[in-house]
Amino acid sequence: MICHLASPGGVSGGSLMVDTSTVALDDTRRASGPITSVRALTCGQAEQHEEHRYGSRLPQLWWVFFGRSWVPLPLQCFLIEHRDGLVLFDTGIDPAILSDKRYIKEAIGRFLLHRIFRFHLSEADRIDHVLAGAGVAAGDIRTAVISHLHFDHVGGIAQIPQADLLVSAREWAILSEPHPEREWILREHIEIPSARWRQISFEPSDDPLFEGFDGIHDVAGDGTMILLPTPGHTAGSMSLLIRQDGWDPILLVGDLTYEAGLLEQDILPGTGDRETLLASFAKVRRLRQRLPGLAIVASHDFTAGDALSRATHRPSQNSGEMAS
Ligand SMILES: [Zn+2]
Repeated sequence: MICHLASPGGVSGGSLMVDTSTVALDDTRRASGPITSVRALTCGQAEQHEEHRYGSRLPQLWWVFFGRSWVPLPLQCFLIEHRDGLVLFDTGIDPAILSDKRYIKEAIGRFLLHRIFRFHLSEADRIDHVLAGAGVAAGDIRTAVISHLHFDHVGGIAQIPQADLLVSAREWAILSEPHPEREWILREHIEIPSARWRQISFEPSDDPLFEGFDGIHDVAGDGTMILLPTPGHTAGSMSLLIRQDGWDPILLVGDLTYEAGLLEQDILPGTGDRETLLASFAKVRRLRQRLPGLAIVASHDFTAGDALSRATHRPSQNSGEMAS
C-alpha cells in the first residue's frame, strides 16, 4: 500500500488525500478504477552514443572515447493519478548537473559524463517545473517509485521532500558498495536529509501471473500498481505494472531497455549486466504472454507517450488524434 510505507502521523496525518484543485484532471475517457491517468513527462533531452543505446561488440571504453554516432533520447518520468494520491515513477534529472561544476564531485566522473552523454537541459526541466507544466504542484506528490538510482532518475527528489521514495533494497545496497559513483549513482544527491527513502523488499506471490519474478510489491494495496524486480541495467532495478479495467496493462520498465522493440528482439544496450538483462527481458516477455496487449514503456523511449495513450485509450499526447 502507499500508506503502509508512510511514517505514522506523517504528512496530512497519514492521509493520502490530494488537493484536487491543483490536479489537472483528465477530461477524456475515464477508466473504471482507482487510476485516472498515466502520463509521460519530459524532463529534458540528451544524446547518447549509438553503441550505448543499441549495443556493440566493441568494448565500452572504445565507444565512450571514439564513438562518433550520437542518437537523441528523451529524459522522461511518469505521473500516475491514483485516488489515494499522486505517484511519480522516477523524478528526472537535476539541471544543476550542467550549471554546477561540483555536482559530480570526482573529476573523472565530470570528465566521463560529457563523453557518455550530451545534455540539452534548462531550469524548466527540473521536476517541480515539469510538474507545474502538467498542472500539478510538486508538493502534491505522495509517492515516488525510483526505478533505479542513476542520476537521471533521482534528480528531482529534493523538490518532493514530502513524498515517500520507494527503492528496492537491492538497489539501496549499492550505496554501501565501493564507489557507487562509478556506476553513476551519486551518493551526495541521494542521501539528502529531506528524502523519505523507503526500501522495498519483494514478497513472494502465488499468483501464476508473476511466476519467474523474485517477488512482488503492491504499491497501493489494490493490485493496480505492482512493483517487480527487473535487474540488469542496475542490480536493483525494478518495473511497475499498472492494471486497471478498461485499459491495456502497462509495464513501466525504467532503463531495462531504451526502446520497447529492443526488448522484444533481445537487443542489449551497451551497458548493464548482459546475462541479468537477458533473464529480465525473458521474464517480461513471459509476462506479456500472460497479459496480452501489455504495453512496455521505457523511460528513454520517444514512443512512451503514444504507448500510454493507446493503452489508456486517450487521444495521442503528440498528435492529438484518437488512438485506435
Ligand atoms: Zn536513465
